[in-house]
Amino acid sequence: MKFDNIIIGGGLSGLTCGIKLAEQGKKCAIVSSGQSAIHFFSGSFDLLGKIDGQDVKNPLEAIKILPDTHPYQRVGIENISRLVVEAPRLLDRAGLNFFGKADENHFVLTPMGIMKPTWLTIDDFTRFEQNDAFPWKKAVILNFSGFLDFHTLFVQDGLKKYNVDTQIKNFAMKEFEAIRRNPSEMRSTNIAKVFDSGDAFDEFAQKVNQLSEGFEVVLLPAVFGLFTKSVALNLKAKVNKPVVLLPAIPPSVPGIRSQILLRKRFEELGGTYFLGDIVEQGTFKNNRLVAVQTNNHGDIKLEAEQFVLASGSFYSKGIVATREKLYEPILGLDIDGDTDSEKWLDEKFFNDQPYMHYGVKTDSGFHALKNGKPIENLFAAGSVLGGANALKEGSGAGISLLTSLHVAEQILK
Ligand SMILES: Cc1cc2nc3c(=O)[nH]c(=O)nc-3n(C[C@H](O)[C@H](O)[C@H](O)COP(=O)(O)OP(=O)(O)OC[C@H]3O[C@@H](n4cnc5c(N)ncnc54)[C@H](O)[C@@H]3O)c2cc1C
Repeated sequence: MKFDNIIIGGGLSGLTCGIKLAEQGKKCAIVSSGQSAIHFFSGSFDLLGKIDGQDVKNPLEAIKILPDTHPYQRVGIENISRLVVEAPRLLDRAGLNFFGKADENHFVLTPMGIMKPTWLTIDDFTRFEQNDAFPWKKAVILNFSGFLDFHTLFVQDGLKKYNVDTQIKNFAMKEFEAIRRNPSEMRSTNIAKVFDSGDAFDEFAQKVNQLSEGFEVVLLPAVFGLFTKSVALNLKAKVNKPVVLLPAIPPSVPGIRSQILLRKRFEELGGTYFLGDIVEQGTFKNNRLVAVQTNNHGDIKLEAEQFVLASGSFYSKGIVATREKLYEPILGLDIDGDTDSEKWLDEKFFNDQPYMHYGVKTDSGFHALKNGKPIENLFAAGSVLGGANALKEGSGAGISLLTSLHVAEQILK
């Protein structure tokens, strides 16, 4: 099977790279073994949230002082300034409405009741301008009886710092009785499906209005709109005071919806998405990747002019560490990381952990290296790249979005 481009990995990087290529008429395939980090999505995409533990106000400015080895520096500040405008537009075309500015972080309330700086927030969630205040003084935190994935006490505790008077109320509804009998069924996605079907929606909105009498704001877990995007917005319209949704324990309802919409956009543009297929190895010839072999396609090789490796970091097994070695498991690419396993970890858990900076080694044009040589038609993008501790600095989605769009531009040149 022949394509113009094949992308290994169907997470945020693979999908956005694929959409950009398909929008320009490329015949593109994505092979993805399974779930991606989007299933754990908090509702916000970070660009650069912290430097040395301090909140960053203007990420575009702060990026300039990052080390030369950082993926943002390798994309280049001028390119970044352009791509931060393009990224939300691309998401918008997929039906995903994100708001925020690259030159001014806003804040979102985390499930721990703490304000966190971020770049783009999906329209289900509430954006705040300050990290040291909550706009309301009297809040009710509502939860579904038996739903254990929303930790109301943490939210209540966190909000004390902002001098908010809170009350927690649990409530039951007959529509949730069937899933409530089994705690493993009482998950955010199953609750969302009940609302998607339309059954419980009006009664629920009425209940929220009753339970929130005497309060200024309602806090609820983000369990609205798995397949039907408008549910969260309709709820906000029906409740007669502000509604603040907070992420629950994954699976993330807005995350799965985002994955579904990105995949839909890619396929509507003519892209081919092989879900549940694993790229097992590649065939190289004269410093080029000629074809890849997958679990489901067996002897049928998938060939392309250019390939993109967007297989994620340790979490998605894009990079693997055993006691003995650190390696890239699909194509045997070079790793940007220490070969001495003694150096992978800092004994102080909260320190900047060295292994979090590891990833596939590339040249300045994001060509992946194998045995010290760049592979001419193989690019790496997203969290498979090394050079940043995305968790510590709050840059995960930014690196994924901007490197994947940059790589797509290299391919389209
Ligand atoms: C649990 C978690 C939650 C996060 N939440 C946020 C957040 O809320 N906001 C934020 O800004 N950042 C977040 N991040 C940072 C995250 O890295 C990025 O946001 C981004 O989603 C990563 O996208 P990616 O496409 O590079 O990798 P991934 O999302 O990891 O996707 C890689 C894909 O490659 C596939 N794959 C791997 N090997 C193969 C193979 N051999 N063959 C075929 N497919 C393969 C995997 O199945 C997976 O689908 C989170 C990270 C993690 C780990």
